[in-house]
Amino acid sequence: MTKRDYYEVLEISKTATGEEIKKAYRKMAIKYHPDKNPGDASAEEKFKEAAEAYEVLSDENKRARYDQFGHAGMSGNGGFGGGFGGGMNMEDIFSQFGDIFGGHFGGGFSGFGGGAQRQQLRGTNLRVRIKLNLEEMVNGTQKTIKVKKLKLAAGATSKTCPTCKGSGVQVKVMNTMFGQMQTQTHCSTCQGIGKIADKIPSGANAQGLIKEEEEVTINIPAGARDGIQLSVRGKGNDAPFGGNPGDLLVVVEEEVDSVIKREGDNLHQELYISFAEAALGTQKEIATVGGKVKIKIDAGTQSGKILRLSGKGLPSLESYGKGDMFVHINVWTPTHLSAEQKEFFEKQMKNGEMLAEPSGKEKTFFDKVRDLFN
Ligand SMILES: [Zn+2]
Repeated sequence: MTKRDYYEVLEISKTATGEEIKKAYRKMAIKYHPDKNPGDASAEEKFKEAAEAYEVLSDENKRARYDQFGHAGMSGNGGFGGGFGGGMNMEDIFSQFGDIFGGHFGGGFSGFGGGAQRQQLRGTNLRVRIKLNLEEMVNGTQKTIKVKKLKLAAGATSKTCPTCKGSGVQVKVMNTMFGQMQTQTHCSTCQGIGKIADKIPSGANAQGLIKEEEEVTINIPAGARDGIQLSVRGKGNDAPFGGNPGDLLVVVEEEVDSVIKREGDNLHQELYISFAEAALGTQKEIATVGGKVKIKIDAGTQSGKILRLSGKGLPSLESYGKGDMFVHINVWTPTHLSAEQKEFFEKQMKNGEMLAEPSGKEKTFFDKVRDLFN
């Protein structure tokens, strides 16, 4: 199909002024408007054709290019491509109308731009916080909590909205220069729900909802983390007059552990051992997220040593791996000595025994920090 000349489409001369172009387009738009020609495909084509012609001829630059190159000058450049390959869409055309007819034609013509529909009823979501310790986060757990939520009050009844007869939609008829036009909006009486309250028991709100406490059991899967949000379907607020309740959103909060500190997937804890334990070596029981484990302290362990328990951290959220547990050894210097102990240490000092004898290969604090990240 060959494209008709834009001047021909609007039935104007090549020398038409801007005002003449506008006037001509207005005439065409009224004549071929889809609301005046329902189901007439050729009228719709002409309507679009006129809109396209106006779009070009009303713009000085586009018109100049069209005058010089014809339709060939109109495709694919200057931010002007696309739209005219397949013609303008209806929304584009209607948004243009504000300019042509003034103000209130921004859309909302029946059959175009999507009319209103009945609202699906759904209750609002509720959000609660739940504190979990490290072990619960790692292994998962079940918690029963009390939630204050809106529930449909016993005895609350509804009836069909008299304004929209239950459709949730209000049709407004406007008289325009195109004739009568229909616009659809959500019903203002029922907000699009289609029902309104009939009997409201005392204490309930206008939608028949009342605040009540309910026990909810929440299953927390293994691997939860601080800040993670779980959604329990249907345990939020009830919807007014039937419909589906909202969800209960559970935000996980990490309970600070007095012994174990978390750093990403890794866990850290301080372990204090006595001077004798450090000197002679021993076994110690420490807490991990998987229960207590025994660790070996070598004879001659220095204060500040860090033991790494591989895989005793948290399961990684990004990979299948697990973090590690780092045990920071602190050798406790005795602060209360008996007379006998005092004598023992004084003898060591006098004889020059039990001296600090660093070999030079001891790891400094910075070495240890670097090791942790390797
Ligand atoms: Zn209504």
